[in-house]
Amino acid sequence: MSPSRPVIAVAGLGIESSTFSPARTEAAAFHPQRGADVLTRYPFLAPGQPLREAADWRGALVGKALPGGTVTAAAYAELTAELLDRLRRSGPLDGLWYDIHGAMTVEGLDDAEAELLHRIREVVGPDVVVSTSMDLHGNVSRDLVHRTDLITCYRMAPHEDAMDTKERAARNLVDLLTSGAPRPVKAWIPVPVLLAGEQTSTRIEPAKSVYAAVDEVEAANGVTDAAIWVGYAWADEPRNRAAVVVTGPSSAAVTAGAERLARGFWDARHDFAFVAPTGTLDECLDAALASAARPYFISDTGDNPTAGGAGDVTWGLEQVLTRPEFKDPSGPTVVYASLPGPAAVDTAVRAGRGATVTVTAGAEVDDRHAGPLTLTGTVHAIRHGDRDAEVEVVLRVGSVHVILTRLRKPYHHEHDFTDLELSPRTADVVIVKIGYLEPELFAMAADWKMALTPGGVDQELTRLGHHRVRRPLFPFDPEMPEPDLTARIVPPSNDPLTVLDA
Ligand SMILES: [Zn+2]
Repeated sequence: MSPSRPVIAVAGLGIESSTFSPARTEAAAFHPQRGADVLTRYPFLAPGQPLREAADWRGALVGKALPGGTVTAAAYAELTAELLDRLRRSGPLDGLWYDIHGAMTVEGLDDAEAELLHRIREVVGPDVVVSTSMDLHGNVSRDLVHRTDLITCYRMAPHEDAMDTKERAARNLVDLLTSGAPRPVKAWIPVPVLLAGEQTSTRIEPAKSVYAAVDEVEAANGVTDAAIWVGYAWADEPRNRAAVVVTGPSSAAVTAGAERLARGFWDARHDFAFVAPTGTLDECLDAALASAARPYFISDTGDNPTAGGAGDVTWGLEQVLTRPEFKDPSGPTVVYASLPGPAAVDTAVRAGRGATVTVTAGAEVDDRHAGPLTLTGTVHAIRHGDRDAEVEVVLRVGSVHVILTRLRKPYHHEHDFTDLELSPRTADVVIVKIGYLEPELFAMAADWKMALTPGGVDQELTRLGHHRVRRPLFPFDPEMPEPDLTARIVPPSNDPLTVLDA
């Protein structure tokens, strides 16, 4: 029987968390929204919107955190207990929209999003139809596909289509529930490839073409939705790898579509390249000093806080300050963003602008590559009230302007620098803890290199020490044999799970 106005709950937790970072994520970092407040996250569920009126939406709990370290067991227990309790009190449901990222790691737990969906099913029952929306950097185990009925992810990196994807997941769920059609057939194919996000931007080839095929597959008769996941490279669980899922009423159509997408991704594996030339940090500094291009940007990629790095690795800054070219204040102007060090910031603030201070900063969370760094310099600027950093100071050490923060902060915009009396456009070299340059920085950069530095999100995946991922896996096993890329038809969510993730 198909309800004309189905009752649909909204729930989920989202983060990408690196298991190679010693940082830990607590519950407050998810900024959880509850009840009706959950619906305010989504413009397409605003009152009066057609999709809002098409169903009786019940917000349970949705929390999204900035990338970071593994979620503590206590934080996961606290958030999931409340999420399940709210679902228990939501009343009988026809559907559930599961809004997740898919790369959440939790202390002592594998495949957290599948485990949570299993517990959600224990509360809401096997008959509730579930639609799952994810980031394309999430991971898709057989278990997760089994427990959901529809599943999809973004098709663009950077994720300009994030809200479109969520809307599609919600609309397909409403359409399925109101049509009274049976649960879709799900064709899943794990693709034994694990790549960094910086190699898989859909703005450039080969990801551009690989992802262009998704729309064509989705347009086929008998297909409801199609998706390719790149997976998350900086966690070490058996599920971490690329995957394809195509869903729809026709077994033949979803099988053909999934096999086409999986083949396209696998065949392109050798062509995924970094979005900018790479090198060691010293090689990048040499290139910058030899170049006439100004400003010359260098990404200090291993500790990128927006991919899950702790943000307080001192290794890169230590290398920069060791270079003889930057010892003298008249040397090439360098801006370095950034290093957290709350005590150092407080000392600089007390001393005031223009004062000379000696402070120690960094390596409070991640000290595996270098210890806390002691610097002597002049206080160039002080700024209070930043949402992420709280307080920022600029310390001039030789010809290097070092940004120190109370808490970690991403530097993605020009005003992040100009607010600190820094002029990145007229600097010689700008070094940022980031992966691919965000649009404003990219537009400003006369030239750019990515330094493959150590940290929790090291871009040289093969040196991180993954040991729990399924092998063989490209690029860890570059000469691996052809994998099985035939579609696995995963049983409906209300069938018992017979074969584990394989
Ligand atoms: Zn992503």
